[in-house]
Amino acid sequence: NPILQVRDLCKVYGSSGNQVIALDHVSLTVNRGEFVSIVGPSGSGKSTLLHILGGVDKPTSGSVQVDGVELSTLNESRLAVFRRRQIGLIYQFYNLIPVLTVRENLTLPLLLDHRKAGKGQVQAMAEELGLSDRLNALPGELSGGQQQRVSIGRALLTRPALVLADEPTGNLDTKNSAAIVELLKTFHKKYAQTLILITHDPDIALQAQRLIRIEDGRIVKDEVIRP
Ligand code: ADP
Ligand code: ADP
Repeated sequence: NPILQVRDLCKVYGSSGNQVIALDHVSLTVNRGEFVSIVGPSGSGKSTLLHILGGVDKPTSGSVQVDGVELSTLNESRLAVFRRRQIGLIYQFYNLIPVLTVRENLTLPLLLDHRKAGKGQVQAMAEELGLSDRLNALPGELSGGQQQRVSIGRALLTRPALVLADEPTGNLDTKNSAAIVELLKTFHKKYAQTLILITHDPDIALQAQRLIRIEDGRIVKDEVIRP
């Protein structure tokens, strides 16, 4: 079964007289292990779509199934648990907790789930991220690229089936952007995770297997660009 099944998704912001249709009947199926990039002009609905797929925003109508589970059937607390276990979210501005160390930020989703990270598990992740010697640092002591690597580690430590990244390189220079994309691709291959990535950068978009273009809240293009 597909990891993601979206049917007739609509999202309308605002009240009558002042409405913005952010998503206009979006339907989409993504298979397990796919790497999909989403492109489109600013304000076309990309972030709104990703937030709804990640269960952090609610659609006005339509349905989203992640791993066969209809998100609208989960209450808030079950949705929070489902999200922590099944969905990894990566943001443009990292969303790290500034008063927690790198180690604490990495393990936060496990902690919230009343699970404990094995010591080896955190070390192994830190090594993959190239952050072994920074585990006790605070986010503010790290470069942007390093902070984004922490946020990727936090999203992936629980091995979610679905990884959603919203402009993960939007705040980084070319060199750091390339490194972050390589890291995401490495994890995608290694753990066979499904990766959906929003980007403004055409070079990054073209590294995916499938390219979706959104304009005015609609999918206007959806093509496989490599096997
Ligand atoms: P993109 O990610 O492609 O830039 P967004 O999903 O952020 O697009 O926004 C789509 C449309 O919805 C835009 O017109 C934006 O202004 C509007 N929008 C997004 N979030 C909100 C919100 N919380 N309240 C009102 N309008 C919003
Ligand atoms: P992005 O395109 O990277 O999502 P935006 O600037 O469009 O960045 O949105 C940043 C935040 O502001 C999002 O949480 C979005 O929901 C909110 N937002 C965007 N447009 C509006 C709007 N017109 N009214 C209220 N909130 C908005």
